[in-house]
Amino acid sequence: MPTVPERRSNTFIRSLPKAELHLHLEGSIEPATLLELRQRHGMDGATLEDVERLYNYSDFTGFLTAFKDVTGHLRSPEDYELITYRLMQRLRSENVLHAEVFVSVGVCLWRKQNFPAIFEGLERGRQRGEKDFGTSLLWTFDAVRQFGAEKADKVLDLAIQFSDRNVVAFGIGGDERQGPPELFKDVYARAAGHGLHLTAHAGESAGPESIWGALNLKAERIGHGLTAGQDPELMEELARRQVPIDICVTSNLKTGCCPDLAQHPVRRYFDEGLMLTLATDDPAMFRTSLVDEYRLVQETFGFSDEHVRELARNSFEASFLTAEKKVEFLNLFDAAAPRV
Ligand SMILES: [Zn+2]
Repeated sequence: MPTVPERRSNTFIRSLPKAELHLHLEGSIEPATLLELRQRHGMDGATLEDVERLYNYSDFTGFLTAFKDVTGHLRSPEDYELITYRLMQRLRSENVLHAEVFVSVGVCLWRKQNFPAIFEGLERGRQRGEKDFGTSLLWTFDAVRQFGAEKADKVLDLAIQFSDRNVVAFGIGGDERQGPPELFKDVYARAAGHGLHLTAHAGESAGPESIWGALNLKAERIGHGLTAGQDPELMEELARRQVPIDICVTSNLKTGCCPDLAQHPVRRYFDEGLMLTLATDDPAMFRTSLVDEYRLVQETFGFSDEHVRELARNSFEASFLTAEKKVEFLNLFDAAAPRV
């Protein structure tokens, strides 16, 4: 039930300066780019149709497998450079001025890739993207929780090693049921000791106890938080502390973590005063974009232009930018999007 004509809504949303805080690099590879990578590695005979089939899945476990298969095409530092550059180009086209991007370092290590060489590719892509599109990008190193705490420690070692080169945060993702937050207490404490910001996927495929667990790890942002609404005390805590929640509506529907759009808690969370930002999670795998996510909440849940503006402003507030940079972006935001 659209409350504003679609074209106007689209223009307003597109022109709003935005940041995206929950975005996986490997989930942003468009099928056309994946095809290019296949050809680069001499895997001939594949058509766009074949490649697109890799993006199909029917549930959360199937999604994790598809994600792994797509990631399997990434081999050289140049591959990582290309996908970073393409992502930044795409962000620019949606007026996303800043992004905090997860790299599945846990998967790279599992594949026994030379991560320091890959990181050089990532940074080359980031620098070229910043120069050509003016997009700001910071890295979050993501460990695979079902691989356990020891493997997460190795990911953290690398995050610490590169923390003076735009790696600002450490996080855990993957299957919450196979890797509860409590396992990672020491890893998170060590990350904090090295000045890294902390984030965690929580309450995506597990209950509110997983979100409590993430808060106990001192996670500063919660990825998804879909099941927080089941626990009134947790809702109060999240609202009181204004812990930012990365809301990824399309992702939750496509993975089946949220059975249908009408049941998504985004509007309830907003009305109960939680600090929310919108994100795509894995835009290519979910066939979405940040503009689509804003439009979806506006059209489905009756968010007004002022609400949408608040969500966009939150995305800069909740970022891991330095205080100085944050003020710079917020001033720019206020000038470009005065209160309606
Ligand atoms: Zn995610």
